[in-house]
Amino acid sequence: MSSAYVSRINQLDALQLDEAILRILQNRVQDIAKLFTPGTVESWSPEINATVRTLIWIFAFSKGKSTFGQRLLDLTYANLTTKKAILFSFISVMTKYLEDKYMDPNRMMNNTREKMIKKYLEKIANLIHLLSFINLLMFLHRGIQPSILERILNISSQSVSTSKPRNIGYSYITRELLWHGLVELFTIGLPMINFHYLKRYLFKFWSRPNKIMKNSIIPTMTIYTKCPYCNENPVLPRHSGCSHIYCYYCMMAHFTAAKTFNCYECEIELHKDDMKVYSPPWSN
Ligand SMILES: [Zn+2]
Ligand SMILES: [Zn+2]
Repeated sequence: MSSAYVSRINQLDALQLDEAILRILQNRVQDIAKLFTPGTVESWSPEINATVRTLIWIFAFSKGKSTFGQRLLDLTYANLTTKKAILFSFISVMTKYLEDKYMDPNRMMNNTREKMIKKYLEKIANLIHLLSFINLLMFLHRGIQPSILERILNISSQSVSTSKPRNIGYSYITRELLWHGLVELFTIGLPMINFHYLKRYLFKFWSRPNKIMKNSIIPTMTIYTKCPYCNENPVLPRHSGCSHIYCYYCMMAHFTAAKTFNCYECEIELHKDDMKVYSPPWSN
């Protein structure tokens, strides 16, 4: 049983699926290419891609009158003869090959002949893009032949089964929506949580506060003094009530996250209000 009507979205999806199948195979080829010396395989990439495309078309049309993307959606080409199939495959492969070879901005053009070819191909490509756009508008209006090549060869998709309309379970859609919602929640919510503060809050339960000798110490800095946080010589030295000297950035970062924090060395609770610039004793 076959029916003439095929929904537009199914036809567009079939094209997308074909592209996806091609991409999967191309990625595999690229993985293999990594094993070779860099540059050797890259220079042949248009030819390799064309070979992959040709193989896909050969396998697809040797088994029936549909591409793999169409087969996944129970579609087939209604009036595809062998001659049309060969022409269809050949034109699709060749246009992509020329595009890969001469219009890839990453590829260097060696001689003036190639540059000339590129110039003409660009004009042709622009024309094809314009025609494709017009074709797309016609497809949206009439509901057949989404690709321009199908229109030129006068082939159109047909559904293999009438009993199986496009049918997607709501459970999948709901799951997808929930998942996206969750991801969005995390990406927006997570940066808002002050993890530093939470960490400090939790550590408070384990460690006993040590409040001795607060503000009574005036630290002295030597060439061996290290910032307890980054373990480097303190840059723009600051202290805040204990005998340890921090970098300005290390200390300020902690005070930005929370008003107080415990010294990494002596565990005395340091307060933002006590933060002072370190001045060496001989400067007073
Ligand atoms: Zn530091
Ligand atoms: Zn300290």
